[in-house]
Amino acid sequence: MITSNGIKELARGLGADLCGIASIDRFDDSPKGFHPTDVYKNTKSIISIACRIPGTSLYIDSPSPYTAIEDIAMSRVSQISLSIAMHFEQCGFHAVMIPSTPYDYWDEESKTGKGILSLKHLGYKAGLGYIGKNSLLCNDLFGNLIKLGAVITDAELVPDKLSDSVKCLDSCNLCIENCPVGAIGLDSVVSQIKCREHAEINNKRGVEIYACHECRKICPNRNGYKKINRE
Ligand code: SF4
Ligand code: SF4
Repeated sequence: MITSNGIKELARGLGADLCGIASIDRFDDSPKGFHPTDVYKNTKSIISIACRIPGTSLYIDSPSPYTAIEDIAMSRVSQISLSIAMHFEQCGFHAVMIPSTPYDYWDEESKTGKGILSLKHLGYKAGLGYIGKNSLLCNDLFGNLIKLGAVITDAELVPDKLSDSVKCLDSCNLCIENCPVGAIGLDSVVSQIKCREHAEINNKRGVEIYACHECRKICPNRNGYKKINRE
């Protein structure tokens, strides 16, 4: 038998720092084409996982470590998601891992890409945290220093509660005010074209690097509001 606790133990054993579960009835407000059943029609449960990333690289000049961390962490959550999906199939269920990329949706003019499902919205619905004005998922223990992955399955699992974390204060707009290119709107929608043109650039050798993380770094909750911020 497959249980929510069993899946969480498996995720932890594989190296995930967070694992939460949502039931499909939480997704009635999903945009057309981005409902979990649009990806796999028999989806009944959504498993969201996250791995922590270290924050010191936010405070150094070279973008190299942060770029490497992003890529390694993405690979790590993908490996864990893959193993969880395999486990469901070994137990007789169906499961699909949800990758961050490649995108199916891409609008060239606005340079807007969308994952087949939004990992941060899956994380929110699975109780891992809240989505801040900077458009990042923020967990109460680990802040926004996390990388997300997910699996959808036809197994019925007991869901977790939505997060009751404190959210952005109305008076805080630090991420919006400090984005170097004004990419974050007051409605918290990020202009991907503005962000990509500033943050995703090629170095002298033509390798893509992540040259900006100001919206992550400036957030007072970046390390989780239950911990003392350190830098
Ligand atoms: S990564 Fe940089 S450019 Fe992009 S939204 Fe954040 S602060 Fe703005
Ligand atoms: S900087 Fe302030 S407004 Fe932006 S995500 Fe963090 S808490 Fe929210």
